Amino acid sequence: MRARRLGPRLVQLTRYGAVNCFLVTEDDGLTLVDCAMAGCGRDIVRAAGGVPIRRIALTHGHSDHVGALDEVAAAGVEVAKAGAAAGTVAEVAVSAREARLMAGDRSLDAGEAPSPVRGSYRAVRTRPTRLLQPGDRVGSLRVVASPGHTPGHVAFLDTRDGALIAGDAFATLGGIAVGGTVRWMFPLPAMATWDRATALASARVLLGQNPSLLAVGHGAALRIPGVAMDRAIAEAERGLRRG
Ligand SMILES: [Zn+2]
Repeated sequence: MRARRLGPRLVQLTRYGAVNCFLVTEDDGLTLVDCAMAGCGRDIVRAAGGVPIRRIALTHGHSDHVGALDEVAAAGVEVAKAGAAAGTVAEVAVSAREARLMAGDRSLDAGEAPSPVRGSYRAVRTRPTRLLQPGDRVGSLRVVASPGHTPGHVAFLDTRDGALIAGDAFATLGGIAVGGTVRWMFPLPAMATWDRATALASARVLLGQNPSLLAVGHGAALRIPGVAMDRAIAEAERGLRRG
């Protein structure tokens, strides 16, 4: 995987130029946000450079965000067996709503858009140890509900510097877009989006966090992203009106 430092506390790891996950530095080690694809575990652990991955936090349960979860969790156990307890992944955190989808339950709640949930949920053995609610903290990251791409999608805002890890609520590959707006160069996240109106409402909420940096699951991060997010929101509004 290709590693790119986005800031003093944030590194983006990229597979095939298209699938991102993130290492966030905390005082006690690292938080891994998302787990890219199966086969990425070794690269993720190597990128941590011996610093323990204390927590794994997931934006949502699609295969290209949880693919290496079992591998990274197993690597933590291996390090612990070797006598270095510091290597153990102590926490696997996912939103309570998304955990249900990851467990194979695609039923919708009252009040949710009546569209079928889309995208691939690959079975993972590693169970979440913590179910997140909006406003919760994972280390320095605050959980921001951002349903739309999936019903339980969340973003993570670093309260220290305003960096926002937005998962698939936005994508920048082929041009910035709200989740659900098709970019023909890379249409997969849009095709896997559950409900575009919900995604649009979440995009506005994320813009309202006034992020200093927008990091996404697919594509390059943007600094001072407000204007670009605003543009993507306007485009998504026009797209919804056209139907
Ligand atoms: Zn996704």
